[in-house]
Amino acid sequence: TNRVFSGIQPSGDLHLGNYLGAIRRFVPLQDTHECIYCVVDMHAITVWQEPEELRRATRELTAAYLAAGIDPKRAIIFNQSRVYQHAELAWVFNCVARIGWMNRMTQFKDKAGKNSENVSLGLLAYPSLMAADILLYKATHVPVGDDQKQHLELTRDIAAKFNNDYGDSIEANGLDREFFPITEPLITGPATLVKSLRDGSKKMSKSDPSDQSRISLLDDADAIAKKIKRATTDPEPLPPEIEGLKGRAEADNLVAIYAALADKTKPEVLAEFGGKGWGVFKPALADLAVSTLAPMAGEMRRLLGDPATIDSILAEGAERARPLAEETMRDVRRIVGFVG
Ligand code: ATP
Ligand code: MG
Repeated sequence: TNRVFSGIQPSGDLHLGNYLGAIRRFVPLQDTHECIYCVVDMHAITVWQEPEELRRATRELTAAYLAAGIDPKRAIIFNQSRVYQHAELAWVFNCVARIGWMNRMTQFKDKAGKNSENVSLGLLAYPSLMAADILLYKATHVPVGDDQKQHLELTRDIAAKFNNDYGDSIEANGLDREFFPITEPLITGPATLVKSLRDGSKKMSKSDPSDQSRISLLDDADAIAKKIKRATTDPEPLPPEIEGLKGRAEADNLVAIYAALADKTKPEVLAEFGGKGWGVFKPALADLAVSTLAPMAGEMRRLLGDPATIDSILAEGAERARPLAEETMRDVRRIVGFVG
């Protein structure tokens, strides 16, 4: 079988990077795969979240999934904390994965900064919970942005180590030797890592303190245009060919965003705008961003006006996810040697 799993944290304002790197790419996969799209609220609390804000962001992310075109009749949409098996499998994986593996994760280093002794233990163990999310459903494909590549490699390492450490028990229980699949990341398209609008060396993030660094999915046309206009760039015009973007991170980023939004390649965008200055390109990019994002924002607002419907979609999704999760956990408990 081909099963897709992906998750996004309800940890702040959703942005263009989340859309281009993840949400938008979830939609066509519904035609070819069985899809599970999760609102990973347990991941979100690895850094402090105000409870009311977490609830709001959970509904906002669900609305974004729906507004982008994810169909809750086909895909399973639910919030992670409702299906306890995620936490249960994560604990088993905490005992399979090594501390050294976690310490090498660049996301942990970036988020912990110089303060690595005083962040939550959950932030260190984050990739172990992520592996549990994916492997609980034996997902074969995981569409994510490029920043999650290292965590997906770790997911493969955890699956392989579990399959190996418990190999005899897996066999004794009459189960497939490759009990957990070795998952394939799906990291495709021209904008797999959208950069901050203020600093081309950083990725666009929900957790960036500067609102100017990102285009939020709920920004209005005016805010989108202003942020693009103020985006950091060098003074050179756009190059005619892609080689000319080397060493120009900010220019490369804006061209990549344009390409992704227009469903074009970067060379195609440069064929159109090569030799033109920012005074031409930025307004064109702003128009394109507004025409894509404004209808989606409108639909998100409409959906958010009826939180009861959103909540029932999440509840129904959890009802569908739970038996799949329990099927895996029943085997895992036997494999590990838990009685009962
Ligand atoms: P946080 O700063 O709280 O970690 P985030 O913006 O990184 O938030 P996540 O919930 O961690 O968002 O990631 C959700 C999905 O969005 C993942 O698939 C991730 O790879 C993707 N993603 C996040 N940021 C970007 C980006 N700048 N460009 C492309 N994809 C991104
Ligand atoms: Mg992130």
